[in-house]
Amino acid sequence: MKIDLHLHTNYSDGKLSPEKLLKFAWENHYEFLSITDHDSTLGYQEACNFLSVYPLELIPGVEISTNYQTTDVHILAYYFDVNNEELVDMLKKIYDSRYGRAKQIVQNLNQLGIDLQWEDVLKYAGKHKYIGRPHIARALIENGFCKTIKSVFDNYLNNDSPIYVPKYRIDTAHAIEIIKNAGGIPVVAHPGRLEDDNLLYEFIDMGIEGIEVYYASHSTGQIKFYEQIALEHNLIRTGGSDFHGSDFYYLNYSAPDICIKELKSKYNHKRGIK
Ligand code: AMP
Ligand code: MN
Ligand code: MN
Ligand code: MN
Repeated sequence: MKIDLHLHTNYSDGKLSPEKLLKFAWENHYEFLSITDHDSTLGYQEACNFLSVYPLELIPGVEISTNYQTTDVHILAYYFDVNNEELVDMLKKIYDSRYGRAKQIVQNLNQLGIDLQWEDVLKYAGKHKYIGRPHIARALIENGFCKTIKSVFDNYLNNDSPIYVPKYRIDTAHAIEIIKNAGGIPVVAHPGRLEDDNLLYEFIDMGIEGIEVYYASHSTGQIKFYEQIALEHNLIRTGGSDFHGSDFYYLNYSAPDICIKELKSKYNHKRGIK
């Protein structure tokens, strides 16, 4: 089975439209997919219109930008009600706040003498003017201010840079609660990117139900470590590539079969189905 439970479309900072992503996945023989755009389910909802053409199983998903103390924590959610009002409101607030924040980042660049135009950034924005740092990075490269994504982040857009402006984020515990109220399964995304593994125990106390153990860039050691935590705490194990388009593509990544088994069993359990 080919499974990928973590992918982005151009409704956030991915390069492909939902239709192109499905086509690509279908042609590459994926059976189970979850579109997990940052703070939006609109790409997932659009993709649903193409499932008669590319009939793979698409699981409702989203990757939410949350805040724990001062750290940026990405929480994946699966199988929630996409029309749940509280969830929709939370996502809209986070999504919409990006626009003003991106404008501030561009102003900061301008103050340092980098003459990047706001219109040039907008050209790369996703649907509904979604702008993340990757879009600003593309604009910097295309306009000759930098050569590579790495140099953009190393020199300008990293979290410690004076240019950086944090995003609006919701508290991790609150996001977990909202996901559960919407019938969804909250999962800690790419734990290998957390500042401290001990944070996982805080999230377990908050009621997280899964860990993204099989993240494409986790090492074998990290996978073993997170597998053990998941087993000890009765959490489901999920996995995905975090595909953003060709620049970030992990060729033919597939999460192990147990990911779909555990995700579905959690989903059925929540609905009282044995
Ligand atoms: P934002 O949500 O606007 O703060 O942007 C975060 C996104 O920027 C991440 O999801 C990555 O896609 C990208 N990103 C962050 N740091 C780096 C980095 N050092 N190199 C390349 N891409 C990065
Ligand atoms: Mn991203
Ligand atoms: Mn993430
Ligand atoms: Mn992601």
